[in-house]
Amino acid sequence: MKQVSTHQLANWLDATLQVHRFKDYCPNGLQVEGKTSIRHIITGVTASQALLEAAVARNADAVLVHHGWFWKNENPCIRGPKRKRLALALHHDLNVFAYHLPLDAHVSLGNNAQLARVLGFTPDRDSDGAPMTCGPDGVVWLGRCDPPMMLQELGDSICNSLQRRPLVVGNTQQRIARIAWCTGGAQGMFEAAVTAGVDAYLTGEASEPTFHLARETGTAFIGAGHHATERYGVQALGAAIAHEFGVKVEFIDVDNPI
Ligand SMILES: [Zn+2]
Repeated sequence: MKQVSTHQLANWLDATLQVHRFKDYCPNGLQVEGKTSIRHIITGVTASQALLEAAVARNADAVLVHHGWFWKNENPCIRGPKRKRLALALHHDLNVFAYHLPLDAHVSLGNNAQLARVLGFTPDRDSDGAPMTCGPDGVVWLGRCDPPMMLQELGDSICNSLQRRPLVVGNTQQRIARIAWCTGGAQGMFEAAVTAGVDAYLTGEASEPTFHLARETGTAFIGAGHHATERYGVQALGAAIAHEFGVKVEFIDVDNPI
């Protein structure tokens, strides 16, 4: 089986995802250093205890996730669940790679690009192929629902694609053609999508005010799951790694209803 050095992989990932372009809430890249060479990588949405245990059980050398560790506003002390996760990674020499905003935003491998592929949305792109976006830092993608459909049908289609019933707020008979989306917990970007003039906005999670904004603006809202909408970027990235370096890459879906 082929292998890649940890540092070569880290450099390739940082360059591919253009980490230097982002101001983020967590460090992007190799968060915990393990073995110096890698043959087998487990990918997942979150570096939870369950994912780490699955990686150890499979004798993996690295985990690669969208939600890593060391978030800006969290208590930095290594206690409780955090200690358990870190101890497991260190004990087994497991490398932990995490890419947050750079993995949301990548033009082809990113969560927004991959969710569009899965749900049949066509992103608007400029003449250079860059996605047309709105919202702070351009995190919300704009595009079309192909073909346009009633909100009710769109909800059913999303349920089929993600294997999870989305939260749908709006007139179920409304025709949805223009759509904006941002994977994960981007309910705070709903207003930017409304301003952009779309028929519907899709993200992972909702908050109490989300309902009123949808009602009062006539812009439909779809909450399709934080975890459910962020499963695809890391899988596309894993496939790109396997193609580039010939190492074994396996995605493990640790289910999460939120
Ligand atoms: Zn997320």
